[in-house]
Amino acid sequence: MDGSATVLVLGGTAEARALAAALVERGVPVVSSLAGRVARPRLPEGEVRIGGFGGPGGLATWLADHDVAAVVDATHPFAERIGTSAAVATERGGVPLLRLQRPGWQAGPGDDWHWVDSLDEAAAGVPALGERVFLTSGRQGLAAFAGLTTTWFLARCVDPPEPPLPPRLEVLLSRGPYRLADESALLREHRVDVVVTKDSGGELTRAKLVAARELGLPVIVVRRPLRPAVPEVTDVDSALNWVVARVTQP
Ligand code: NAP
Repeated sequence: MDGSATVLVLGGTAEARALAAALVERGVPVVSSLAGRVARPRLPEGEVRIGGFGGPGGLATWLADHDVAAVVDATHPFAERIGTSAAVATERGGVPLLRLQRPGWQAGPGDDWHWVDSLDEAAAGVPALGERVFLTSGRQGLAAFAGLTTTWFLARCVDPPEPPLPPRLEVLLSRGPYRLADESALLREHRVDVVVTKDSGGELTRAKLVAARELGLPVIVVRRPLRPAVPEVTDVDSALNWVVARVTQP
């Protein structure tokens, strides 16, 4: 590709890594940005920077300093603050912004899903549904369940969680993707009677929902937060086409 303007991919997801790899393959200068939350992140191909920008103002300065031609916000659907930062900073700098966001999960026949608006609401709904909870809301989401002192939790996260935590807690450190047979075995082995998840979407972590359906378990699903309205695509190829159309010199 001709020209030197950079594409910034706000990452932390499998889709962001796939987009970075595709841009590197096409010779498009790309910088992937990670928050630095995970101790040993899966690194995308190409240049990577790690750590916050310092809010929308910091991101706007970074875009100007690095001659950024386009930004793709490929962050997780529950990463609320960086989504807002991206919208504000790109508008300020006149830089095109696209959100790459996988579709949310949809309940199907046989699913017993209970939609809630927040982790606090999920915690409030647990006692009516079960006593042994499989919790996949991430280590930063555990605090919302700390007040449930009689409920037993199996929490799966990438890095060890920090207090406040529910007192009856077993932590399973692991990183997806997960297979249906393993998810079913995990739920059975721990005698789980309710599953709590955020609506992250995608195939990599969907097996737990299928396992729950097959075992007849209720699932509490936290709705995605509202993020600023920006142009959006749901797959990597569409994001790639959008970027290439903006950075390729005629
Ligand atoms: P958040 O609440 O939106 O972000 C908090 C702060 O972290 C932001 O204000 C920003 O700091 C910094 N930040 C977030 N994403 C960044 C990125 N890609 N590059 C540079 N700085 C970033 O997000 P979060 O929920 O803590 O998630 C952090 C990261 O983990 C995201 O990148 C997301 O893609 C990934 N992730 C999140 C979840 C989830 O469930 N939330 C799940 C899987 C992966 P400044 O304001 O200083 O710029």
